[in-house]
Amino acid sequence: RRKKMVERVKTLMRNPENVRNIGIVAHIDHGKTTLSDNLLAGAGMISTELAGKQLFMDSDEEEQARGITIDSSNVSMVHEYDNEEYLINLIDTPGHVDFGGDVTRAMRAVDGAVVVIDAVEGTMPQTETVLRQALKEHVKPVLFINKVDRLINELQVDSQEMQIRLGKLIDHVNKLIKGMNEEKYKAGWKVDAAAGTVAFGSALYNWAISVPMMKKTSVSFNDVYEYCKEGDMKTLAEKCPLHEAVNDMVIRYLPSPIDAQEDRVSAIWHGDVSSEIGQAMKKADADAPLSFMVTDISMDPHAGEVATGRIFSGSLSRGMETYISGIAQKNRIQQVGVFMGPERIEVENIPAGNIAAVTGLKDAIVGSTVTTLEGMTPFETIRHASEPVVTVAVEAKHMRDLPKLVEVLRQVSKEDPTLQITLNEETGEHLMAGMGELHLEVIAHRIQRDKGVEISTTPPIVVYRETIQGKAGPVEGKSPNRHNRFYIEVEPLDPEIRKAIKEGEISMDLPELERREKLMALGMDKDEAKGITEIYESNVFIDVTKGIQHLNETMELILEGFEEVMKGGPLSREPCMGVKVRLVDAKLHEDAVHRGPAQVIPAARQAVQAAMLMANDTLMEPYQKLFIQVPQAQMGGATKEIQGRRGVILDMVSEGDMTTISSKVPVSEMFGFAGDIRSATEGRSMWSTEFMGFEPLPTNMIKDVVSSIRERKGLKKELPQPSDFISA
Ligand code: GDP
Repeated sequence: RRKKMVERVKTLMRNPENVRNIGIVAHIDHGKTTLSDNLLAGAGMISTELAGKQLFMDSDEEEQARGITIDSSNVSMVHEYDNEEYLINLIDTPGHVDFGGDVTRAMRAVDGAVVVIDAVEGTMPQTETVLRQALKEHVKPVLFINKVDRLINELQVDSQEMQIRLGKLIDHVNKLIKGMNEEKYKAGWKVDAAAGTVAFGSALYNWAISVPMMKKTSVSFNDVYEYCKEGDMKTLAEKCPLHEAVNDMVIRYLPSPIDAQEDRVSAIWHGDVSSEIGQAMKKADADAPLSFMVTDISMDPHAGEVATGRIFSGSLSRGMETYISGIAQKNRIQQVGVFMGPERIEVENIPAGNIAAVTGLKDAIVGSTVTTLEGMTPFETIRHASEPVVTVAVEAKHMRDLPKLVEVLRQVSKEDPTLQITLNEETGEHLMAGMGELHLEVIAHRIQRDKGVEISTTPPIVVYRETIQGKAGPVEGKSPNRHNRFYIEVEPLDPEIRKAIKEGEISMDLPELERREKLMALGMDKDEAKGITEIYESNVFIDVTKGIQHLNETMELILEGFEEVMKGGPLSREPCMGVKVRLVDAKLHEDAVHRGPAQVIPAARQAVQAAMLMANDTLMEPYQKLFIQVPQAQMGGATKEIQGRRGVILDMVSEGDMTTISSKVPVSEMFGFAGDIRSATEGRSMWSTEFMGFEPLPTNMIKDVVSSIRERKGLKKELPQPSDFISA
């Protein structure tokens, strides 16, 4: 039987019209895992008992212990629709926002998304986040309204009230879609029950219904209501099986790779679409050069490093020599695998339009473009919704493990690109920065369990950002030999431009002319837009000098000095954001020997450092949006927790006895929140957080925070002065 299934999967993947690559996205606890497992069981890919235990998508031991989905893992299933077989590749996505990076990556690999929403809770903050990520990647949504049994049995709504509630929920989702991407909304991406793009039901009790399903089964809305009311879930599950309603919807209304790539290529690739490779990707042409984007890397105890991703053109074959974006040497593909149910099976080759898992790409990282076409324009980098804002220092418990720890840290950062590993040269510590306390706890746990290195970690600390509030310069930076001088001005970068950079609209990857036009459209003057030489995070370096001899050959070293400061600003060595650096003049020695790295880098660096301190350098601190759902009786306890953490309440919405409090709280105040809110509300609240960006640190806190950061980093405790960097 298994052999037969393997053959079916192999045949289907060669016919992209009959393939659907999808993700299931949801707010935590809305039922994504239950739905995925029951879909797989319905397709005969895993046994129903296993599905009941929810073992599959959450195969990681830790995920089960914590009850949350962490890694994107992939499964596939075969479903029959209209007498034809289809292959559905399902990429699992985490529901916890601390792992939001995984959702973004998974969205790059798929073409459609099933958005799961709890009928009782309605849309939640993370529903919005994942929907926004899907639309940004041109991934088409359909809606599954889950836990309808609770509406009837717990909230005791009548049939009419149920219809009204479902209608309101659908309207709300459409409002979100319209707000996020009006163009797509108008082009038919709104969800519509009558059109068949909405299903509702109960993942737990294994039934679902949609308008097309009602026609197919002659079960009406009122029948569903009655069965449910009677508690006869079994009959419902027989008459309207969950997997049939949902998979029918996926196949009928979500695009095949052929249809999807036609539209998606221009959103995820900025090369020339009329070129051969551009056209091949638009058509998902399997007989063209390979283009494969890596969306996940994981360690397999047997196979080693496995890179998973999406093939946009050509075919992936065993033994193939490939180029990897940004890497000089070629990598040879070793094993090539597809997913069958939850297993990976080896095949000779896989054509365009599919998800593949390969070994042998030792130089690839998540986001790499893998191709057989030399010099291919890489895919757009995957942008993450949140940033690493919490850090812990990691130490090996046993000295002898130190070399192993270095290797393991390299591995985990490869597997999870939202994790940043740095070595603090002053203290020799390894620092691990992630998106939140929980994110880092999970990684630390993994290092010990999967990688077998015992470690100790310091309590988490917040990563701030340095930015300037005013203008300064020109400031002169002199090289140690005094033969080279750089004149630097700094000022805050326009917020609109900063935003465009963050969102990937403007980058150094863009053709120069296009970049210049976009910058000018956002109000930058022409000389500056022309002079952009480097963009580092949300900081820019602009060369506005004219006709200076040897400047071109020296520029790389100047930029190195600039980047060093942007990685760690002069005030506290925290990363910089929103700084515009202008080089307005330079004097260089005739002879290259006298303008080497040891001369140019410090001269450029110190000029930028001094200029920033003169321009009112300050700290920005990260904020989280915090949502707490709490019964009336515990409201006081919850609001006190928010206010005691410098939090600000933004909104309160009540439904029945439950109130949802939306607030914003500095990340630095959020440590230990899980335990505190539990005791403050007697364990009766539910909460979630979402990264919301940086805000200025209150003035009265700056001195203390800066001093303690400096002390921690082994810098002198007093606040630095411009004269520390440049001599008069
Ligand atoms: P995830 O966090 O989105 O993966 O959610 P899970 O699938 O783990 O489900 C969260 C909780 O809701 C679990 O206790 C499920 O048993 C429960 N659940 C899931 N679907 C339904 C449903 O249709 N009806 C009811 N009553 N409970 C459900």
